[in-house]
Amino acid sequence: MKVGFVSLGCPKALVDSERIITQLRARGYQLSRDYHDAGVVIINTCGFIDAAVEESLSTIEQALTENGKVIVTGCLGAKADFIRQRFPQVLHISGSQAYEQVVQAVQQHLPPPTDPFTSLIPATGIKLTPRHYAYLKIAEGCNHQCTFCIIPSMRGKLASRRIDQVLHEAEQLAQAGVKELLIIAQDTSAYGIDLHYQTGHWHERSWRSQFYDLCQALGELGIWVRLHYVYPYPHVDTVIELMAEHKILPYLDMPLQHANSRLLKLMKRPAKATNTLQRLQHWRTLCPELVLRSTFIVGFPGETDQDFADLLTFLEQAQLNRVGCFQYSPVAGATANQLPNPVPANIKQQRYDQLMQLQQQISMDWLQQKINTQQTVLIDQIETDHAIGRSMADAPEIDGLVYIESPGDHLAVGDWATVQITHADAYDLHGHLANSHQ
Ligand code: SF4
Repeated sequence: MKVGFVSLGCPKALVDSERIITQLRARGYQLSRDYHDAGVVIINTCGFIDAAVEESLSTIEQALTENGKVIVTGCLGAKADFIRQRFPQVLHISGSQAYEQVVQAVQQHLPPPTDPFTSLIPATGIKLTPRHYAYLKIAEGCNHQCTFCIIPSMRGKLASRRIDQVLHEAEQLAQAGVKELLIIAQDTSAYGIDLHYQTGHWHERSWRSQFYDLCQALGELGIWVRLHYVYPYPHVDTVIELMAEHKILPYLDMPLQHANSRLLKLMKRPAKATNTLQRLQHWRTLCPELVLRSTFIVGFPGETDQDFADLLTFLEQAQLNRVGCFQYSPVAGATANQLPNPVPANIKQQRYDQLMQLQQQISMDWLQQKINTQQTVLIDQIETDHAIGRSMADAPEIDGLVYIESPGDHLAVGDWATVQITHADAYDLHGHLANSHQ
């Protein structure tokens, strides 16, 4: 019994896909890489921006043409009527995190095999990421109401997982060979608020379902723990101390989106009242090796030349290590669509170019400082004449890479390597192998 699976969207959707696949494998289904070979096809959709909606719709259309039996889940699935209107022949539609509904729909339209041996699965489930790193989703939904975002209306309010469940899953992943955990949620630093920090038991100790306890406990696993989607709240200070003690990676992915306080208010961003620059400076005093990644939106409605200049000044002062930038585009259903003074497309493009140019220089200067140092690198890929890995400063998919020349047969995917850095370019480091271990 084969099921086709297409996973679209962000890492949070990827975690949903992994859970669904785990459940299906537990029931004896196999995965198919081919629409024609599959008894049914599941599409885990994304509905974050209009381009993602279009991609989801065209994927559904293709699966219907090539296979005919299609189950739709994920973010866009929250708009069942919209999908049903366009594709009445879709077998079942559900929103995100509807694992059981999806599995039931598969069982209904493709009854499961009965051989008990096919239901054996690894304790960790089936990973869609390589074996040596995994995303760990600690909460779903969001209590904020950023005006450019429709995630809260699609995924609901913050719903954290209990700490003992999260830690149990993290430990299983580590035991199965995962060496890097990427912690994700819509607002990771808000973890546990909805549970009133309920305690759970793990390793003969009580832990609160709370951001600090979570990081402290994960730090006991002895693997890389990388935090994504953290906001600059004061309570994050204590977690920076854990980074300074090398319990978790000194790395924070912190989507700030803007630096001008008027714009942040228009965006209704979390922690908008914080003096972010002061907070970052304090964090760097606590942990000088801290690596900060952020993303920004340029051309948000009402953004003036002065607001944009404030953003550039902030970037110069903050010296963030990695920065992503988006030109604002309206998302159907977002309240920002009603804001006056849209920024013309050519201005958005100019601001984007200017910001990226400034940041490229900042990132390059920082990478230059790595030359003649040794970096611990986790190996992702082996090619004929070089290997590719990432240092503690590089999250998969979004940050830079470390290229290791001529490692011979000393490295395998998932190994740790000590790399002597010899040169750097705009985004990546290059060097040769000094040492390696599994
Ligand atoms: S914090 Fe803002 S941007 Fe992020 S999911 Fe919540 S509402 Fe959307």
